[in-house]
Amino acid sequence: MILAVASGKGGTGKTTVSVNLARVLNSKVLLLDCDVEEPNAHLFLNGVVQREEVITLPIPEVDESLCDGCGECGRFCQYHAIVSFGATPLVFPEMCHGCGGCMKVCPRQAIHEMDKRIGVVETFQAENIILIQGRLDVGVAMAPPLIRAVKAKLQNGTHAILDAPPGTSCPVIATMRDTDFVLLVTEPTPFGLHDLRLTVETVRELGIPLGVVVNRVGIGDDRVHVYCREQNIPVLLEIPDDRRIAEAYSRGHLIVEALPEYRELFERLVTVVFEHTTCDLHVAGSQGTNACALHNGR
Ligand code: SF4
Ligand code: SF4
Repeated sequence: MILAVASGKGGTGKTTVSVNLARVLNSKVLLLDCDVEEPNAHLFLNGVVQREEVITLPIPEVDESLCDGCGECGRFCQYHAIVSFGATPLVFPEMCHGCGGCMKVCPRQAIHEMDKRIGVVETFQAENIILIQGRLDVGVAMAPPLIRAVKAKLQNGTHAILDAPPGTSCPVIATMRDTDFVLLVTEPTPFGLHDLRLTVETVRELGIPLGVVVNRVGIGDDRVHVYCREQNIPVLLEIPDDRRIAEAYSRGHLIVEALPEYRELFERLVTVVFEHTTCDLHVAGSQGTNACALHNGR
């Protein structure tokens, strides 16, 4: 199973949920930290970097002696990363997605590619968890290619938990795409509800089953719960607003280890998600029978 843990804004407890879920799994699990601008899952795990791989993007470079300024490359590039005004084009590497299209359409073969470093993918081992995290270089804004490099480490037959970046933009979609299930972490506040609505719409666009984790239950109001009920979205876990959890977090400790009484909550969450993911697959092949609450959360 490939599970993405996401939230509409930062600081809701997304990484807390991801690392604690990974820890309570009984088997080997891949934990992919796709929050490549600010990876922090490693802060909660006692592991050392075993491998570091530099990730590059192929960026076009124009040979002035071959270019006749026809502008085909600029007309092709939907990201405006290569622009020609009737002369040798200018390339803006920070906007280039490395798709190679401009090189293909150039009628004079005046474009070749140069590798530009965008970041690294680091691999840690911490007991049952293999943590793979992307780390974008400072000043690089191109997160999706690095996220795809992190996701390329997924292994057939090994469960994976993907800690998504916050928000609903391209990096989040790059993370959630092709996952089996999305857990949306939110808080019971008006801001939490606002961001939850946006992320629910995004996940539904992608057609992935989803469930909600409400963190810091006890603050705010019940509007998140009312919304989930109205939308038929299952609330799969409620984490209380417990000062000891915040203290454990600030020390880089896992909740399930610092406060063992919470372990069962996370174990139950794993069970529920697994059951319903299996159920979802079962439902898909069973003439449309749909008794699965999570399935209805689409
Ligand atoms: S490689 Fe793709 S994104 Fe980059 S400049 Fe060429 S067409 Fe644009
Ligand atoms: S398509 Fe090739 S020849 Fe035409 S402007 Fe671009 S680099 Fe120059």
